[in-house]
Amino acid sequence: MGNRRQNPSNSGDPMDHITNHPATADMQASDAAHHLHPFTDTVALNEKGARIITSGKGVMIKDSEGEEILDAMAGLWCVNIGYGRNELADVAARQMRELPYYNTFFQTSHPMVIALAEKIAQLAPGDLNRTFFSCGGSDANDTNIRLVRHYWASLGKPTKTHIISRKNGYHGSAIGSASLGGMEAMHAQGGLPIPGISHIDQPYWYAEGGDLSPEEFGLKAAQALEAEIERVGEGNVAAFIAEPVQGAGGVIVPPSTYWPEIQRICDANEILLIADEVITGFGRTGAWFGSQTYNIRPDIMTIAKGLSSGYQPIGGSVISEKIAAVFAEKGGEFAHGYTYSGHPVAAAVALENLRILEEEHIVDTVASDTGPYLAQRWAELGQHPLVGEARISGMMAALELTPDVSARAPFAESGSVGPICRDHCFASNLIMRHVGDKMIISPPLVISRSEIDTMIERAHKALDKTMADAKAQGLMVAGTR
Ligand SMILES: *Cc1c(COP(=O)(O)O)cnc(C)c1O
Repeated sequence: MGNRRQNPSNSGDPMDHITNHPATADMQASDAAHHLHPFTDTVALNEKGARIITSGKGVMIKDSEGEEILDAMAGLWCVNIGYGRNELADVAARQMRELPYYNTFFQTSHPMVIALAEKIAQLAPGDLNRTFFSCGGSDANDTNIRLVRHYWASLGKPTKTHIISRKNGYHGSAIGSASLGGMEAMHAQGGLPIPGISHIDQPYWYAEGGDLSPEEFGLKAAQALEAEIERVGEGNVAAFIAEPVQGAGGVIVPPSTYWPEIQRICDANEILLIADEVITGFGRTGAWFGSQTYNIRPDIMTIAKGLSSGYQPIGGSVISEKIAAVFAEKGGEFAHGYTYSGHPVAAAVALENLRILEEEHIVDTVASDTGPYLAQRWAELGQHPLVGEARISGMMAALELTPDVSARAPFAESGSVGPICRDHCFASNLIMRHVGDKMIISPPLVISRSEIDTMIERAHKALDKTMADAKAQGLMVAGTR
């Protein structure tokens, strides 16, 4: 076992089970030497070393020093049923013994992927009845690019290839999905976006709404889609893709007028609507899907994250009967697939996750109890003098930090205050993420009222400390947008 430390005791604490790991400093040194982290500045990381997370239970995670941290991000927006559900471990072990792997190419299938596809069809709105499986959201959105182009080509309209998406949207990190996304920093590396994709403005009233009311601005932002379809030519446009609520962009909850107008424009034009539900799916907004919360009728839904509560990597593209019918009638191979599409272990775990979400009425509880309670407590945080807006949709929420609440002003030094707040949260055992000067949360859906109270209390203290630091460092200066 070399330098491995033995589990000192079995304390009976369920978070104390697997502790045979090396000392923290050794792991940090090894991590720094051999591990290239996603979305991380390696220089900044190596200055302090990674915080090493070793176990989790419910909404709490534990680090290698034994600190218990309230994970208000549910990992990366995904651990919807919370950490430590043994039922998922048990089905994974059972499935690995029975059939650890088989593919779904070339006219074979297996029981778990069949059961999962049927379950998704039952839960998904409208006639979204068929799923193409992937390993996550990025590759599902890459599938969507090929799927919509193949759909139109099969209908004899091969020029309909262009896809419209949004600035500051997030659709994943592969070349296709990062091109669909509208993240400038990602496009700047490696010459993205690929051709055939364009981005319209986002429905981000707080920062971009100016003097318009949110409702007026929502309409205006949606009508940018109509203008873009006209510019590109309807005969060239395959689809529009958007998140019901932008997640990674900073929990941007669209004004009430936005989605009805987008739906009208998609209906009036012959283009497909793709709802990227990777975050908003499986209860996050207080309904099974964000499309239900926002009355969207997508032709395709991208799913991942909450599908397995992050316990296994699995995602997919759920398609409507209209699209499925074309593939069923026209024949011809869809020349696309991933070795792990519909992986039996991931499918078994996802199915068990959906059973728990359903049987424990977790989505209903978010809708009727903990969601409204969080909304009330979040609005209280919104009264903090450093907060210009508090917005929320179900169990995803954001705070806009500002030096001047009444003017919705940005900081002169943009992005300087959010990281300070994130560090104060981290130091007080609360994981809250920053996007520029926005603070965001997306806790496990099983968070209780008393855990919400703990989260709000820690966040409030972190805001106080952040404001004191920002004042001391001369950062409370308003800039212009
Ligand atoms: C996380 C995310 C993705 C990418 O999913 P991965 O599993 O990381 O590939 C795609 N779309 C949205 C909306 C996401 O939040």
